[in-house]
Amino acid sequence: MDELFTPENLKWRDRAREIADRVVRPLAAKYDRLQEYPWEIRDAIKEAGLFGVWIPKEYGGHGGGVLDLCLVVEEISRACGGVGVLFAVNALGSFPILLAGTEEQKQHYLPQIARGEKLIAFGLSERNAGSDASGLTTSAREEGDSWIINGQKKWTTNGGAADIYSVFAVTDATSKSRRISAIIVEKGDPGFEIGRREDKMGIRCVPVVELHFDECRVPKDRLLGGRPGLGFKHAMMTLDRARPGVAAQALGLAAGALELSTVYATKRQQFGQPISGFQMVQQMLADMATQVEAGRQLVYAAARACDAGVAELTKLAAMSKLFCTDMAMKVTTDAVQIFGGYGYMKDYPIEKYMRDAKITQIYEGTNQVQRLVVARNLIKESGSLDHLAAFIPLPDHENTIADSERAAQAAGA
Ligand SMILES: Cc1cc2nc3c(=O)[nH]c(=O)nc-3n(C[C@H](O)[C@H](O)[C@H](O)COP(=O)(O)OP(=O)(O)OC[C@H]3O[C@@H](n4cnc5c(N)ncnc54)[C@H](O)[C@@H]3O)c2cc1C
Repeated sequence: MDELFTPENLKWRDRAREIADRVVRPLAAKYDRLQEYPWEIRDAIKEAGLFGVWIPKEYGGHGGGVLDLCLVVEEISRACGGVGVLFAVNALGSFPILLAGTEEQKQHYLPQIARGEKLIAFGLSERNAGSDASGLTTSAREEGDSWIINGQKKWTTNGGAADIYSVFAVTDATSKSRRISAIIVEKGDPGFEIGRREDKMGIRCVPVVELHFDECRVPKDRLLGGRPGLGFKHAMMTLDRARPGVAAQALGLAAGALELSTVYATKRQQFGQPISGFQMVQQMLADMATQVEAGRQLVYAAARACDAGVAELTKLAAMSKLFCTDMAMKVTTDAVQIFGGYGYMKDYPIEKYMRDAKITQIYEGTNQVQRLVVARNLIKESGSLDHLAAFIPLPDHENTIADSERAAQAAGA
């Protein structure tokens, strides 16, 4: 299907594939076990120039978009889902700057991120504000030339490793619609500390931590976009562009698990033949492959929609995340099944795929929340289908299909 991509898309995909096979795959189990940030992998990704794929050329990037980002995340996640998010979370953290930053903020931060010199994280969720992110309580008040931030963030991916943090805080508690602003915090800002580091089921190579702000003082020009009150809007715009990246992480995990399962099925002998000869194993492989391919098309469609700025972006991005992450959970679980008892063992690479896949159904909005987003948008768009109402006999009117047909004829439908 290479014909469907530009030479630039293929360049970044192939470069990511090479790094994934040469550097990421051999080190995946080690860093999963150690639960340490894999700086040597970060260095290889940086050397390959991959941190710049989604950043425009005028800010030191390669001028690609969400499609390039997704292709890279997919390839890396084929080898390790943890490294997939370790990379992708830099897009999540930098999208607020890209979408809403002032020209000075963009010129200052984006080139450092594009070069891979500085890592970035996204601090929205809190202990009591997960799905209901708008209920966050971390606050920021103006004092002279500074913002003073107080509160805690929960589950910030890349926290501690990152130098830059997009942090969402309440700047006007009295406002309903303009309560929250995004502020850039840097490692070393006074009053900013990294708190508890989580011990996780999967994606164990990337740190997920609490952020603590205790009278944390940052210069006033760190307010994203220079205007307060737009933070929640910017967070939602960011998630629209980042969710295809989570979908790509899940897609890569599923594709990687399918590859390993296919190889294993052709090698593992039972009853005097490879298990790939059994129709029930073939059925699993065929269903896995079909689901992976369906997910792939949805990810690429959502990524292209992001890059084209289409209006249906929110729904499509949520659909891609929802479908691919549920699909990855199913495919990686079936992959463990194909490996039989060996699949359940840590000596084999496949159980890690299943552990890594689970989080993709939870972060950047749980899949229940994605369903809400899809349904809300579907209902909002349903006005354009009103002409179909003439064909539907409604229960509270005692009309029939024949009545509906007559009405539709009368309406000239
Ligand atoms: C490993 C990891 C990394 C993370 N990284 C980041 C990060 O980098 N930055 C960041 O800001 N956040 C991050 N998060 C937070 C993540 O986005 C939240 O965990 C997620 O949004 C869910 O919030 P919650 O955990 O509080 O669950 P809750 O919101 O408490 O949800 C619990 C359950 O209730 C369901 N539920 C909640 N509301 C509804 C509803 N209205 N309708 C139907 N069902 C509902 C949920 O789907 C879920 O099943 C991370 C989380 C984890 C675990």
